[in-house]
Amino acid sequence: MLSVEEARDRILSYFEVLPVEATPLIDSLGQVLAENLVASFDIPPLANSAMDGYAVLTSDTAGASTEHPVELPVTGVVAAGQLPDHPLEPGTAIRIMTGAPIPDRSNAVVPFEDTDELERREGSSATPGTIGIHIETEPYDNMRGAGEDVEAGATVFESGQILRAGEIGVIASLGHASIQAVRRPVVAIVSTGDELLEPGEDHAPGKIYNSNAFSIAAMVTRYGGIPKIMGIARDTVESLESALEDALDADLVVTSAGVSKGDYDVVKDVLSSKGEIALWSVRMRPAKPLAFGVLDRKDGTKVPHLGLPGNPVSAMVAFEQFGRPALRLMMGKPQVDKPSIDAIMDDPIRNHDGRRVYARVHAYRDDSGVYRAKSTGNQSSGVLSSMAQANGLAICPDDIGMINAGEIAKVEMLDWPDDIF
Ligand code: AMP
Ligand code: MG
Repeated sequence: MLSVEEARDRILSYFEVLPVEATPLIDSLGQVLAENLVASFDIPPLANSAMDGYAVLTSDTAGASTEHPVELPVTGVVAAGQLPDHPLEPGTAIRIMTGAPIPDRSNAVVPFEDTDELERREGSSATPGTIGIHIETEPYDNMRGAGEDVEAGATVFESGQILRAGEIGVIASLGHASIQAVRRPVVAIVSTGDELLEPGEDHAPGKIYNSNAFSIAAMVTRYGGIPKIMGIARDTVESLESALEDALDADLVVTSAGVSKGDYDVVKDVLSSKGEIALWSVRMRPAKPLAFGVLDRKDGTKVPHLGLPGNPVSAMVAFEQFGRPALRLMMGKPQVDKPSIDAIMDDPIRNHDGRRVYARVHAYRDDSGVYRAKSTGNQSSGVLSSMAQANGLAICPDDIGMINAGEIAKVEMLDWPDDIF
């Protein structure tokens, strides 16, 4: 039997980072940037106002207070997106909106609330002829400097940066609608089994719906890949062959079921005739049986194949442990474990045959703020509802027979962000 780590290392040795391609910025969330981005201009481009107010000269506001306002004639108005059409003359003010460029010779902005703007306005939004300033100012009050966000010539992001909402916003502010990024992996998902129906088909006695394709597709999407559901192959050589045929142009082919002893021959025959296949026993529960190999494409290249167990929880747990790292590798991301916590178990985890147990739990904080984890119920590898209720997998290590209630277990969280930088 292989340990989880041995199986993962073997699997990852078959993958490489995918090619780079031009990617619309809007689609790049979670992808890896594959170019250095240099700012060709300052952001903001010009000094501008941080408030709606009046551009002034600080020296003109000396001694101003609510009781003794300084009255200044208003010579114009400048809105965001406009350029001032005249410089500020000493002893005057220019009305200015947030984000609008500061007129030449002005060195501070007085916000509306520190003027008598509201009293003067009296229902009209017209620019008043004069304004009463209520406060003294210092240079740069309520101003944003040119380049204070990003300076022209600066390398804003380097190749390898993982793109989150913040980076995507900054890239948009640099004016780019597309960027070079490592391509997303396409994952073909082939379900096998004579008993399977597709959701949407009529329920029939003795049949079950193909849930694996959907849970796996959802994980592929979540980890940044593009799922391509290929449908159901029946437990015959011809059916599996034709399903695989259509899957070969993907970056990874995932099959589900047919890797336990009873089905092994069909899958093994077909897959070994189309490439290489090894059937492994991995020291884990659920998801002991696992197939891995490569399939030959017509052009002589090869595509890795991950053969997941059929039981729905086994398929999901195996994809978390082996599919997710493969996707990260292909996307050019570093291998980062799922976030985990140490939690006090409310229920025991039993390990009776020396395999690492991944127990479905709901982790929570108790009243004193301590992490605890409660079993979500029936741990059979066919019971998907207890997986749906779980937010984490509590681990009983390979070489420990039992974690008792009240003892601490490591819980790999399924639902916490797994990219922490
Ligand atoms: P097998 O690996 O073919 O022995 O399948 C193991 C178990 O998983 C059986 O109970 C199958 O009915 C079930 N199973 C196989 N494929 C799927 C699937 N795509 N969706 C849901 N259950 C499945
Ligand atoms: Mg089967």
